[in-house]
Amino acid sequence: MSDLPEKMTRRQMLKRCAVAGAGLGLGLVGLGGEAFEDTNAAHAATLRMREAMFYDKLPGNKIQCKICPKQCVVGDGERGFCGNKENRGGTYYTLVYGAAACVGLDPIEKKPLFHFLPGSKALSVGTAGCNFDCKDCQNWQASQARPEQLPESSVYYWPPTTLAQLAVRYGAEVLAYTYTEPVVFYEYMLDGAVVGHKYGLRSVMISNGYINREPMLKVAAHLDAIKIDLKGFEDDFYRKYCVGSVKPVLETIKRVKALGKWLEIVYLVVPTVNDDVKQVTEACRWLVKAVGPDVPLHFSRFFPQYQLTHLPPTPFETLDRCRKIAREAGLHYVYIGNVEPWRGTENTYCPSCGKLVVGRSGYRVTEMHLNSGKCAYCGHKIAGS
Ligand code: SF4
Repeated sequence: MSDLPEKMTRRQMLKRCAVAGAGLGLGLVGLGGEAFEDTNAAHAATLRMREAMFYDKLPGNKIQCKICPKQCVVGDGERGFCGNKENRGGTYYTLVYGAAACVGLDPIEKKPLFHFLPGSKALSVGTAGCNFDCKDCQNWQASQARPEQLPESSVYYWPPTTLAQLAVRYGAEVLAYTYTEPVVFYEYMLDGAVVGHKYGLRSVMISNGYINREPMLKVAAHLDAIKIDLKGFEDDFYRKYCVGSVKPVLETIKRVKALGKWLEIVYLVVPTVNDDVKQVTEACRWLVKAVGPDVPLHFSRFFPQYQLTHLPPTPFETLDRCRKIAREAGLHYVYIGNVEPWRGTENTYCPSCGKLVVGRSGYRVTEMHLNSGKCAYCGHKIAGS
């Protein structure tokens, strides 16, 4: 990376990304605003506005968006629930194509993806908007904002080619569509994944899984790994805390598995909200049955934020109980995230011999005992790459 010194060294950049990982809100980190192909200000307006995919035209200049199960019917001059697509004269447009409001160069472990290219770096982007309104959202300043509500200085106009060029330049092997919700910046993600492959980059979608079948099938053909949040297992919970529903998320999880794409699941455990034994047990048993025991499950610790500042952080004992439930249900790879690294809850142990095969500490891979994806001690295949 000898050609990096203009505004930020690689070391400084990684450091700033680590700060961004602490959840400091929108405009997480910048790469210096260098002049890459297609990024100059004159292009900004057209870069942000592209005709959206997957919508039907309706009488009276209305449209119906078919990207996600909300299936918003949107009148002329109006926007759908996610706030970043607009109907102009009966044509539906995304307003965030190439408009990265949250960016970072993250360890892949931060996504979290633990069984996909361990130790690699992911150039990560998210735009304004989301199709949920989770009461515990970590990035609510961007996810619940309309594009024009974000300070201009916090948005980087990085079309797909620029994304790929930056990733190569900064030594990332992966492009990650993340932070807010890639389902609602679908067009940007899809083109990013297509262009990324031409540059030898993998693409990963870090998502709530609230997406319709056809768009999922189309983009999955260009994705290499997908992480889905299973936020609970009750429809009532999804309605009340996320403004969504659980069934489409479960369908997406099964679909991803059936497509043969690498899949990991996160369950953010919020005290008194979705931490009851019944709900966690049902979720774990369903995962084993639907996608098998090798899907990694990450229980994540909640910290008070957004609309749930009145709740305490999740006690470790609660997370430990969830882990026991998951193991008893038969899951082989169960992790606890957002806790002190010394607890060792993010290490991978071989399901066959029990030895540590990947050690992690604070998103860093500290040791690896794999031979071609197999346990170095007993030869058991460790799921994923
Ligand atoms: S992607 Fe946005 S506009 Fe489309 S259905 Fe979902 S919430 Fe509505």
